[in-house]
Amino acid sequence: PWGIGRWFLAIIGTASAVIAIRANRQLPQLWLEPIKQIINILENPREASTDLPEDRTHPELLRLTSAAARLVDTQREAGNSNIRIDEVLASMSEALFVTDLTGNIEYVNSAAEQLIGCASETLIGETIDDWISVGTDKPVAATAVARPFEAQLRLHDGSTLFISIVVSRIATETDEERLIFAAQNIDDRKKAEQRIRYLARTDSLTKIPNRMQFQHLLQQSIARAKRSKQYAALIYLDIDRFKDINDTFGHSAGDHALETFAERLLALLPEGTTPGRLAGDEFGVLVTGNSSQSEFEERLRSLANQILGTIGQPFEVREEEVFMTTSLGVAVYPRDGYNVIDLIRNADAALYEAKKAGGNCLEFYSHDMNVEAAERLMIKSRLRRAFEHDELRLHYQPKYGLKSGRIEGAEALIRWDQPDQGLLFPSDFIPLAEESNLIVQVGDWVLDKVCADYRRWQEKVPSPVRVSLNLSLRQLQQRRFLEKVRETFEAHQISPTCLELEITETTLMEDTDRTIRILDSLYGMGLHLAIDDFGTGYSSLSALQQFPISALKIDQSFVRDVAIDRDDASFVRTISQMGHSLGQEVVAEGVESEEQLAFLRAEQCDFAQGHLFGDPMTGEEFCEVLVSDNEGTGKYRTLFA
Ligand code: C2E
Ligand code: MG
Ligand code: MG
Repeated sequence: PWGIGRWFLAIIGTASAVIAIRANRQLPQLWLEPIKQIINILENPREASTDLPEDRTHPELLRLTSAAARLVDTQREAGNSNIRIDEVLASMSEALFVTDLTGNIEYVNSAAEQLIGCASETLIGETIDDWISVGTDKPVAATAVARPFEAQLRLHDGSTLFISIVVSRIATETDEERLIFAAQNIDDRKKAEQRIRYLARTDSLTKIPNRMQFQHLLQQSIARAKRSKQYAALIYLDIDRFKDINDTFGHSAGDHALETFAERLLALLPEGTTPGRLAGDEFGVLVTGNSSQSEFEERLRSLANQILGTIGQPFEVREEEVFMTTSLGVAVYPRDGYNVIDLIRNADAALYEAKKAGGNCLEFYSHDMNVEAAERLMIKSRLRRAFEHDELRLHYQPKYGLKSGRIEGAEALIRWDQPDQGLLFPSDFIPLAEESNLIVQVGDWVLDKVCADYRRWQEKVPSPVRVSLNLSLRQLQQRRFLEKVRETFEAHQISPTCLELEITETTLMEDTDRTIRILDSLYGMGLHLAIDDFGTGYSSLSALQQFPISALKIDQSFVRDVAIDRDDASFVRTISQMGHSLGQEVVAEGVESEEQLAFLRAEQCDFAQGHLFGDPMTGEEFCEVLVSDNEGTGKYRTLFA
């Protein structure tokens, strides 16, 4: 700071000297004394007295005097602070490095020595860039800014620390400029911050980006793709039947499956792709590309196939081989969406289709899927109102005894009579209802309605036939299911022996121990139990033997071709024999032709249901059909002749 002052001093000194000379010649004697004093002060600023004489009669002289006094004061202050700064530098807790303008270290304080871990002799003479780096190629000296910035400090032992630096430029007594780097150790704070960031962005189980981070990366990819006219694809993955792995082998096995999934994904993903865990068993993969659309799609397809192949390899849980498959849905920017929300929604819609197709496969998004997804949502909310508006109907499909040729049972099938759309079949809304608790409400309604109808039939027919109703998994999972069934029977004064419950194999196998207990109680009450869609599940007959089963209903897909397909014929034949040996009745569903009927009768099947005997009908119609069948005037008698 002192250099500028010196220049100033020199200029003023010269100026006053000139005035003094002129004064000497021309000015009166009384000026001489003050001017001499001023000269004295200026020549000897540190010692001279600053009590200047005041001469108010000569303003020029007065101005000169006070300027000199001010200058001297500034000089003295500067001199004092010069001494203090030296001390302060040494005692400061911040590490200080003084360098020349090219960054050669000339001075370090003891805090800097301690931080780096070596004596100042080692540091002096080296350049600041050997010790401090800001992460770019630019020399630190050139980065000098007024604001503090973060950098890394190399320590003597080779490790590094995060520091915050303020650089200031100063002039020395000898008029040369210097840089002072004042560094503060922020390593702990910085590492904590990095840890927090890591935790906030990473899925703790699989160590890949979590949903938030993945969405952020997707956002960035879309922005980049927009700028450079590229494609960005989102592959949405969901492990097939993950719940089964969890339920069968326990949660730690489930975690192991998720870890394995992420590891395999990471191992096979090529550079430029990013995985993420979006939720539970849902994952995402981000792919960008600048090839043509068809080439890009081809790339996605081969990547997807690679994923399907790798994920499908068995892995071990407690020395058991477990198989896992995944379904994939793909949406591509810009074709399928312009932003994160649209891409995720559409990839999800494609995933839904892949699941619907049976899983373990890939689907690309198409516009129709979104329409479907929107419809699904609408159906759900309208179904909620269907109860209030009394739009649900129950139809009955008669079950004919193949020996007697008479109606020996019926199946209750739900329909939804929408005011503007006509009858909606269960396949259009039951799976949706099953996604939520709505199915429980539907089930309650059906049970109540069957009992009410049955009661009415009893007024016309002494003992109407047993009626089957379809049961969904969620109904069975209700805590009060048994009580509810019992209460409904009591309310309608109906015996449980009038009803049969149809359950699919998959539903039975869900929570076996609990299901056995419930079904035993129901069976104890007199209810019958039938296995619906038999042949479409994976359970073995021996596994099914644990349940109190009265009947097997052979799925219509096997019945369809019994008359022409040898495999289907032998399947139905075998089921029929096996069912009988286990004491179970065998029912064929979906019988449409007389050829099928003839085959089923020859193979000793017990019952047949199907369009051959007309469409399912309302409760009133069924009651009439029942009455005429009892009177021996049934419409389909001749079929059994
Ligand atoms: P499901 O229990 O296997 O019912 C048999 C399905 O086959 C019924 O379809 C029936 O109309 C149809 N069907 C009957 N005969 C023939 C035939 O000759 N040819 C063909 N092609 N089809 C025939 P629907 O009524 O559409 O019901 C479909 C499924 O919806 C049912 O399959 C059942 O799983 C479920 N469902 C029906 N009503 C209910 C219900 O009240 N509650 C629950 N949870 N599910 C129900
Ligand atoms: Mg059924
Ligand atoms: Mg069925």
